[in-house]
Amino acid sequence: MTISGAAIVGGVCGQPIKHSLSPILHNAWIEAAGLDAAYVPFAPAEDRFEAFVDGLRGGAARGINVTIPFKERALAVADTASDLARMAGAANLLILNADGSVHADNTDGPGLIAAIAVQAPGFDMAAAPVVILGAGGAARGAAAALLLAGAPSIAIVNRTLARARDLAEAFGPKVIAAEESALPDLLPRAGLVINATSLGLGGGEGPAADLALTPNTAVIMDMVYKPLRTEFLRRAEAAGRRTVDGLEMLLRQAVPTFEAIYGVAAPAEVDVRAIALTLLGEA
Ligand code: NAP
Repeated sequence: MTISGAAIVGGVCGQPIKHSLSPILHNAWIEAAGLDAAYVPFAPAEDRFEAFVDGLRGGAARGINVTIPFKERALAVADTASDLARMAGAANLLILNADGSVHADNTDGPGLIAAIAVQAPGFDMAAAPVVILGAGGAARGAAAALLLAGAPSIAIVNRTLARARDLAEAFGPKVIAAEESALPDLLPRAGLVINATSLGLGGGEGPAADLALTPNTAVIMDMVYKPLRTEFLRRAEAAGRRTVDGLEMLLRQAVPTFEAIYGVAAPAEVDVRAIALTLLGEA
């Protein structure tokens, strides 16, 4: 890999950042594409995020991914934003233009939609309601992308109902907030059920929804990818449902990100899933 004085610099910014898979994946693509470029991790102090972005304005880097806990502040610091970033209320990508301006985008939602297309081919987004478990940043981004992709309606089910209500109000009549006690009514009509809570992370139990109540055509997705086969996905499989994992979402959001930063398509011949599975100890 060549990194000259003319290299295009990209990266990922979060706190902490040392467990991020993104540097290894993007640098594998950079190497395969033969680019004079680098993708590096940044972990600014939590109160220095805006100063960090200001320092990159005008050419210090071409673009950076943004992850927890900076996604909402990334949108706020930007001069312009895509519709998706605005709807999601958060950005996971900042493009640093040569004129000093910063453009915010969000590729998490498109990553989710692409992951469904890969792991549940033929799924018709417009055919049936969606149930999202969780009402945090990931749920908001998912709702924005699913609405743009044609979902007819979305029910947000969250432990803290007020947070689900806030999210529903931000999106209008196609999105409703519901209590966990409504799941026995919602699940039999659902085409897609997504775990957007952090439940199941690190190997614990996922949300308590009875997935056997869903139609047998339903697709069940988990945004959590550590472990890859979460307890939630294992329950979905036991009920005979098609599943989509969080790792595929993570990998798919990186594809448009790479192109936005480096100006060329991510080389399809690199098996980034295999690389990620090895890094996660799942190979
Ligand atoms: P967040 O803003 O902190 O929201 C966390 C959500 O989980 C909230 O809805 C919270 O409910 C719920 N929750 C947490 N502990 C709970 C518990 N014990 N019982 C019931 N609900 C609980 O986090 P986020 O950014 O939305 O991320 C959510 C998950 O998605 C994380 O695991 C994250 O790693 C994952 N994610 C994956 C990808 C990907 O590419 N695969 C991308 C983004 C996020 P309350 O509102 O009641 O607290």
